Amino acid sequence: MAKPFYIDEDKCIGDGSCADICPGCISFEPGMSSARVIRFDCAEDLIEEAMEMCPVRCIHWEEEE
Ligand code: SF4
Repeated sequence: MAKPFYIDEDKCIGDGSCADICPGCISFEPGMSSARVIRFDCAEDLIEEAMEMCPVRCIHWEEEE
């Protein structure tokens, strides 16, 4: 079970790479302006990979705030 995380939808450029990496927890469909968190139960290392691959670094753990 991963820690809660969020996507800063104002910064997201909608390339969808996070959803390709972690489709179980992040949703992105053509036509959406930003990716959306849909679940929190994916492996933490997958979410970390999505965070690292995000071109604008707009995926964050909740406790970073
Ligand atoms: S990788 Fe980052 S910029 Fe791309 S869709 Fe996901 S959150 Fe948005």
